[in-house]
Amino acid sequence: MADADVLRLEGVRKSFNLGLPTEVEVLHGIDLSLRRGEFVALIGPSGSGKSTLLNLIGLLDRPTAGALELEGHDTRVLDDAALTRLRGHSIGFIFQHHHLIGAFTAAENVLMPQLLDRGHPDAAMRRSAETLLDRVGLLPWRDARVGNLSGGQQQRVAIARALAMAPALVLADEPTGNLDTKSADGVFDVLREMNRVNRTTFLIVTHDPRLAQRCDRIVEVVDGNVVSDAAVVRDGR
Ligand code: ADP
Ligand code: MG
Repeated sequence: MADADVLRLEGVRKSFNLGLPTEVEVLHGIDLSLRRGEFVALIGPSGSGKSTLLNLIGLLDRPTAGALELEGHDTRVLDDAALTRLRGHSIGFIFQHHHLIGAFTAAENVLMPQLLDRGHPDAAMRRSAETLLDRVGLLPWRDARVGNLSGGQQQRVAIARALAMAPALVLADEPTGNLDTKSADGVFDVLREMNRVNRTTFLIVTHDPRLAQRCDRIVEVVDGNVVSDAAVVRDGR
């Protein structure tokens, strides 16, 4: 399946009912496709709808109108149980606040998605958790409690956890927003490496223009509309 679309949105709208007489529409008809292996930045001012869009793509919420296809599945025809299953196998999430369990070790946190899926850890799961921790440079810390790690290390554990189910698409909402420049660069290096090694597709919300320029493509959302969508041109390429 070379360069097939992992994700396809057509005319996706989202309204919220805020208890007002009319609903408030925050996404006004989004068209967006992501191909396998793409590494894409999602930028735009605060309040423009980036997180709302990520929640729809991550199947945490449903569009009010429009079509959303993930790995060829038309999500409009799926019930909530089927959406949850699809989400578990196709999507990895990385948030600004990592939602790790501080009292658990790095390895236990990375095992968590597979444990939730299959109930008990087996040798293959433990090996895959160690491989992922190795890839993010944290194998020596596998038995350390996550609460004792630095911010950058914690975010790298969160990346390993997001990749535990080998998702086709990883959604990252300001993954470096809490980090200093050096740690942010390190986390971004890890994302890039995961993209290169596994051809995992990434959609990354960032406010940092420097990091956006390290992506292959930049999608800009303003006031609930995609206002630009273009490949990043680098010198010497
Ligand atoms: P961004 O991530 O680009 O900063 P958001 O997607 O968080 O923007 O928000 C876009 C708009 O949608 C904002 O005006 C926000 O107040 C509104 N919004 C987001 N989530 C909800 C919700 N659950 N209920 C009502 N309004 C919401
Ligand atoms: Mg946001």
